[in-house]
Amino acid sequence: MKKKSISIFGATGSVGSSTLNLLRQRKDEFDVVAMTCNSNIDLLLELSKEFNPKAIAVADENLYLDLKKRVDKNIECFAGSEGLREISCYSSDIVIASIVGLAGLESLLDSVKNTSVIAIANKECIVAAGPLVVSQAKKHNCQIIPIDSEHNAIFQILDGKSIKDVEKIYLTASGGPFYKFSHSQLKKVTPAQAVKHPVWSMGKKISVDSATLMNKGLEIIEAHHLFGLDNNRIEVIVHRQSIIHGLALMKNGALLGYFGKPSMLNPIDHALAWPLCKDNNIDPITIEDLNNLTVESVSDDDYRSLFLSRFAIEKGGFYPVYLSASNEIAVNAFLKNKIMFLDIIRVVEKVIDEIGHSGNKSLETMASLQEIIMADGEARIKASEIIKLGF
Ligand code: NDP
Ligand code: MG
Repeated sequence: MKKKSISIFGATGSVGSSTLNLLRQRKDEFDVVAMTCNSNIDLLLELSKEFNPKAIAVADENLYLDLKKRVDKNIECFAGSEGLREISCYSSDIVIASIVGLAGLESLLDSVKNTSVIAIANKECIVAAGPLVVSQAKKHNCQIIPIDSEHNAIFQILDGKSIKDVEKIYLTASGGPFYKFSHSQLKKVTPAQAVKHPVWSMGKKISVDSATLMNKGLEIIEAHHLFGLDNNRIEVIVHRQSIIHGLALMKNGALLGYFGKPSMLNPIDHALAWPLCKDNNIDPITIEDLNNLTVESVSDDDYRSLFLSRFAIEKGGFYPVYLSASNEIAVNAFLKNKIMFLDIIRVVEKVIDEIGHSGNKSLETMASLQEIIMADGEARIKASEIIKLGF
C-alpha cells in the first residue's frame, strides 16, 4: 500500500502530539513531510530525529541559527512567517492545521493549494477567515475535515446527508473547570486553575477559552462557517462527561449523535483514515461509558461569551475577527497575570463595542487575507490599549 504523506503545523502542541502518537502506531502508513513549532525547537529537533521529515520550520526567527546548527543536514530548515509559508509549499496528502491562533492563517491558505485533505483544529482561523478558507479549499479541490471534536462529530453524522435535512445541531460543552461558580468565586480564579480542565488535556489558550466558555462561542462561529448554519440552528448544551460530542436533530424528527471518549485521538484518527474507517488502538467507547450521561440547556444570557459570539455572527463583516483577536490578547494577558479572569470577556466586549462601531465595514464581497490581517491587527491594538489603560 502506498504511504500517505503528512505535514503537521504546530507539531509541538497538544493536538500535534496527539497526531504524532497516532503516527507512531502507523509508521508503515505515513511519511512525515514537514513539521513546525513556534519556539520549542528542542522538541522539534527530537521529533525530527524520530520522524525524519523533509523540512521543519520555527516561527520565531531568532531561533533559526540554533535550529539550523543542530538539525540533521538532510532536513531543510526555515524560520518566521515566511518559513511557515515555505513549508506549506511542500505538497502532502494530509495537513494537520494545529497552530494556535490567527498566526496559522497564511500557511493554512497556502496549504490548501498543495494538499488533498486539511484536518483543521485551528478554530481561530475558521472563525476569522471561514468564508475565505472554505472558498479557497473548494477552488483547489481540498477537503476540509474539522478535527475540533464537536465539529468532527457533526461532520461524521452528516456523512453524505444534506444540511437542508438538518433542523439544528447541538454542540456539547463540558462547562469547564468553573461551571456553576459564583461571581465572587470567578473573581479569584488564577491562571493555574484555569488551565486545568477537568476532562480534556489541551493547550493553555483553549483551556482558558473553555473556562470562559469563549471556546464554545468560537465553536458556534466555526460551525456557522463550516456547515453554513445560522445562529438559530446551532444550539449549545452542557454535557459534563464529554462523551457526546455532537448531535443533529433531523427534519424527520430523529436525533443523531456521536459518542466517544474525551480524547482528540478519535477525531484526528478519523481524519487520518478518511474516507475509510480503520482499526486502531484507541480505547473504544463502552456501554458503561453511557451510564448516567447528563445534558443541560444553556441560555446565552448566562454567558456573555456565547452572547458576543452570536452577536458577531449576526453583525457579520469583521466582527468575528475582532472577537477572536481581542480574545487572544486578553487570554494572553490573563495568563501573564496582567488582568483578572473576569476581565477577559470584558476586554472582548469593549473592543467589539469600540471598533465594531467605527471600523466594521459591511462586506459586499468576501474579505481578503490582507483585510482580515488588518482588522485583526486593529483589534489587537485596541485590546492591548484597553488592558494597559484599565477599564
Ligand atoms: P498548544 O498551545 O498546545 O500548541 C500550539 C502549537 O502552535 C504549538 O506547536 C506551538 O509551538 C505553535 N504555535 C504557537 N504560537 C505560534 C505562532 N505564533 N506561530 C506559529 N506556531 C505557533 O495548542 P493546542 O494544540 O491545544 O491547540 C491548537 C489549536 O487546536 C487551537 O486553535 C485550539 O483551539 C485547537 N483545538 C485544540 C484542541 C485540544 O484538545 N488541544 C481541541 C480542539 C481544537 P510551540 O510549542 O513552539 O509554542
Ligand atoms: Mg471543541
